[in-house]
Amino acid sequence: MNIKREELAVSDYESVVYGEDPKTGLKAIVAIHSTALGPACGGIRMLPYASREEALKDVLRLAKGMSYKSSLAGNGFGGGKSVIIGDPAKKTPELFHAFGEFVNSFDGRYLSAQDMNITSEDLKKVKKTTRHVIGIEGEPGSSGDPSPVTARGVLRALEATAEKINGAKSLDGIRIAIQGLGSVGYRLAEMAHEAGAELWVTDINPAVVEKAVEMLAAEPVEGDEIFEVECDIFSPNAKGAVLNAETIGRLQCQAVCGAANNQLATDADGFRLHERGILYAPDYAANAGGIINIFVEFGGYSQAKAFEHTDRIYHTMREIFRRSDKEKIPPFVIADRIAEERILAGRSK
Ligand code: NAD
Repeated sequence: MNIKREELAVSDYESVVYGEDPKTGLKAIVAIHSTALGPACGGIRMLPYASREEALKDVLRLAKGMSYKSSLAGNGFGGGKSVIIGDPAKKTPELFHAFGEFVNSFDGRYLSAQDMNITSEDLKKVKKTTRHVIGIEGEPGSSGDPSPVTARGVLRALEATAEKINGAKSLDGIRIAIQGLGSVGYRLAEMAHEAGAELWVTDINPAVVEKAVEMLAAEPVEGDEIFEVECDIFSPNAKGAVLNAETIGRLQCQAVCGAANNQLATDADGFRLHERGILYAPDYAANAGGIINIFVEFGGYSQAKAFEHTDRIYHTMREIFRRSDKEKIPPFVIADRIAEERILAGRSK
């Protein structure tokens, strides 16, 4: 291997390594937060980070997030992530071959997958030099598009949320305001409609809103007015940081539950929601269907298996709400605690 490896000492992380290959221009960092519960799985992100420090900060945050998400999902993965520092417009096959060699040097402790600015074609190039790549759409045995499984998991989280605020798990008659009708959001809207929910929807793409109005009897909402819809559950399925000091004050719902990653702009916003008496279903517990789907590929993919495991999100969410009540602590803090307890228990095995 020609990659120059530099181990970076970061407390609370099992292994963080900067890799450089002058020949191909590869500059990358792999961060393994924990393998206590299984191999550290997490996507490869490619961005023109302004500095190595900025890339390191990002990869550490993302690797820890993957660790917590997999721990809570109980899927058998640990948590890790990688970043390639570079311009996604300047990708070369050689860059990905070198990256594959770098991944190989972790002996299977890190499993790479797709993330921002990385396509299935890029993953195929990584696979030329390492077998530690999963989730390549279109390949035989691949788990394919994770969105339908993610949507199913969010539906289970919505059921646990409805049960907590309404006493019954059924979504029949539950009023849901959905922000974002993309791969996950539209499928979620379809399933919620089938379950009898009343829908309010918004998206920056008017075509999907029209479709939801026509097919799902949804009520269209203009842009940010979605925050003010009087409803039972607000469901963010577009982008992160939508729950912040400004938006939380506008919410007219009893609960928030959706697929978007990193919905809370800051931890203070989690406490803010709690103080307002709005139940928050932690995002990474609700949207774990995608990572569960990939894990199933690891042992021989079947969608039935992925669905079965994803359905457990209902029980995970109930447990989070139960402990939140008992310990009088917001659900997002409880989710982290459960994830941490499991990682700790895994370490001592
Ligand atoms: P997507 O890109 O297919 O859909 C996002 C939708 O949101 C698009 O229709 C887009 O037009 C819309 N949108 C963007 N900005 C908006 C705004 N300001 N207001 C209203 N609508 C807006 O993405 P996706 O795969 O459906 O993922 C949705 C969210 O769920 C993302 O935050 C993603 O990180 C998260 N997530 C997705 C998966 C998955 O399996 N796809 C898994 C876990 C988490």
